[in-house]
Amino acid sequence: MSHAIEDAREGGAGQSPLLATLRSTFGYAAFRPYQREIIQSIMDGRDVLALLPTGGGKSLCYQIPALLFDGLTVVVSPLIALMKDQVDRLQSLGIAATYINSSLDPTEIRERQMAVARGEVKLLYVAPERLMAGGFIRRLARLQVSLVAIDEAHCISAWGHDFRPEYRELSRIREMLPDVTLAAFTATATRRVQDDIVAQLGLRDLASFCASFNRPNLFYDVRPKQSAYADLRDYLRSQPRGSGIIYCSTRNGTEDLAAKLMADGFAATAYHAGLASEERQRRQDAFLTDEVQIIVATIAFGMGIDKPNVRFVVHYDLPKNLEGYYQESGRAGRDGLPSDCILYYSYGDVGRQEYFIRQKAFEQEREIAHIQLKQMADWASNQECRRRALLAYFDEEYDSEVERCCDVCESDDGVPVDYTIAAQQLMSCVARTRERFGMTHVIEVLRGSRAQRVLQLHHDQLSTYGIGRDRPADEWRYLAHQLVRRGYMLQDAAAFNVLKITERGREVLFRGERVLLPAPAVKTAEPSSDSSRRSGSDYGKPGHPELFERLRALRRRLAEDQRVPPFIIFSDVALIQISSDLPMDESAFRKVRGVGERKTAEYGQPFMAEVKRFVEETGARPVPAQFRPRPAATPSVAGSTVRETLTLFQQGHDIEAIMDVRELARSTVEGHLAAAIEAGEIESIDRLVSPSRQRAIEAAIAQCDEIDGLRAVRDILGEEYSYGEIRFVKAAHTRARRG
Ligand code: ADP
Repeated sequence: MSHAIEDAREGGAGQSPLLATLRSTFGYAAFRPYQREIIQSIMDGRDVLALLPTGGGKSLCYQIPALLFDGLTVVVSPLIALMKDQVDRLQSLGIAATYINSSLDPTEIRERQMAVARGEVKLLYVAPERLMAGGFIRRLARLQVSLVAIDEAHCISAWGHDFRPEYRELSRIREMLPDVTLAAFTATATRRVQDDIVAQLGLRDLASFCASFNRPNLFYDVRPKQSAYADLRDYLRSQPRGSGIIYCSTRNGTEDLAAKLMADGFAATAYHAGLASEERQRRQDAFLTDEVQIIVATIAFGMGIDKPNVRFVVHYDLPKNLEGYYQESGRAGRDGLPSDCILYYSYGDVGRQEYFIRQKAFEQEREIAHIQLKQMADWASNQECRRRALLAYFDEEYDSEVERCCDVCESDDGVPVDYTIAAQQLMSCVARTRERFGMTHVIEVLRGSRAQRVLQLHHDQLSTYGIGRDRPADEWRYLAHQLVRRGYMLQDAAAFNVLKITERGREVLFRGERVLLPAPAVKTAEPSSDSSRRSGSDYGKPGHPELFERLRALRRRLAEDQRVPPFIIFSDVALIQISSDLPMDESAFRKVRGVGERKTAEYGQPFMAEVKRFVEETGARPVPAQFRPRPAATPSVAGSTVRETLTLFQQGHDIEAIMDVRELARSTVEGHLAAAIEAGEIESIDRLVSPSRQRAIEAAIAQCDEIDGLRAVRDILGEEYSYGEIRFVKAAHTRARRG
């Protein structure tokens, strides 16, 4: 979207007040689809019903009118967590916003009410039950109220997935505040729910807007539930920093899964309605402030959680209906960066849900629940584009294309390849090594590797040794993953991910069942350079990752001082842009997405100073948009590839496990670790090379010249020593000399 076009439509130099407010107060260059039209209708005094997808920017649609109207804007919102968040954010932009709810003590409530009565507040957030309480709305009726915005308006309808009786009371607003403009917002509403909202609220002179439900930056992925935990763990390891939500259907389920993840070294916490409210708040804050990476929750968590940088939403159990699924998975990627929505599906989950439905008291309720469950199960089990099917549920036809769409589209690419013989070779090798080894080792045996471990175990004597030399390791890895995914093999999470053959696998091995798979995508060595699934965003990865890390650390320090979540200060998207554009004066800084005058004034200095320091130290230059690194297939905004390897190493994984998790070659992983050793990030290399071998290697290094390569050292030591070991000792040596 070009600014020139925006400006032309707005009449060139004479910027409209809407656009001027968007730019100067909120720091955004252009409106998102429908925002301008919605705001204009509200300004014209029309009632509005707006359906915008999550992340579509609904809040701005009532916040800008609130600033431009003379009177008060009341925002009705169901959750206290949302209010505090939104109000903090608005105040950080210099906007007179406040909220009144039960988290405040009576004195605070009185003070805020008085400020409202004195006309000092432009935006007031309240829950529906408070707004409709007799005294409250009568007091408001005596003030000048310009607009009532109703967020999550679908909660008013019994046909929606989240009906809340307290929302029903809102049907009296029209009668209590006859002259006010009403604007209803929601991210999910079928036609029936939309009609219900209009009728209940008595909307008149209606302007309604229905934006696309498509969320192009989300990747939809349905995976078999068999060996879900091992699969989930592998996935999470590929996301060492990204925040995510994992939904489970029961409280116990959340506790168990969170405990397992913690035992595996992840920063995770459980969240459900059975926890005391302070504890819930504490855990939610820990997630919002990035203190914990993963929140494992029932659906009690999430409504109104406005964290922009959620990189993945996993459903560990089957949701009850598609509408709920759309809403929950939609909490991923609100900042527009590529994000994943993963659902683990098994038919067993459908049976379990059916059992619960049968317990419901009313026939009609049972019927609706059955229909909805069937739609959900069909969506998960059909081999049809997930995006298209999800949009069809909302009556939206989808005929365009996105680069990262869904698991079905990805597996549909090209003509299937007959992998039967290769699958038999691979599984016989698993059987010959007695189902006691992981993927990496099995592939090394197949490809006839001379790795020390292969030789020590005498696996070079096996009949399957070297039978797979004709295929590259990446292709074997692809095949092994596919066989696990499709249930031919199991990866035993409880035993170091060793591969085991299932009954289905035996059918292939002994009875010749054919294995047809999509052709593997051409892979480059480093996932970060994979451009085949890249998104169109220019903001995918920081131009200078090291600076990005420094800016993140700075943001975290400021956030801790001010006790606000980091993203209130700047979003990841803004930091990525700063780390590419290197703005060092105020006018350049204001151009960063999401940074207005107020934020430049409040936070600009320390961030610009950090940029300056970085430029002075490194001589870095701005990275023009066309040369910026694009987001990777599994995006990990933060951190270089070396850091990802290092994190896994520090979590206790050995080289083979890291090769498995990251799908990298041994030499690449060793290279990462050597770089980390040289940078002083790994202090002791005893885990990598035993002390006695270190001494032998050091002695050999001492006999060589400084400029000699690994080869010269190996020649002295002989074949018993691997290049990897020599590389590590050399890196430690270089580090020690540098001091
Ligand atoms: P939702 O529709 O889910 O309520 P929000 O109002 O929370 O969405 O907006 C999602 C994100 O998009 C927020 O970080 C918001 O600041 C940002 N945003 C909203 N409008 C724009 C815009 N015109 N340009 C850029 N970012 C925007």
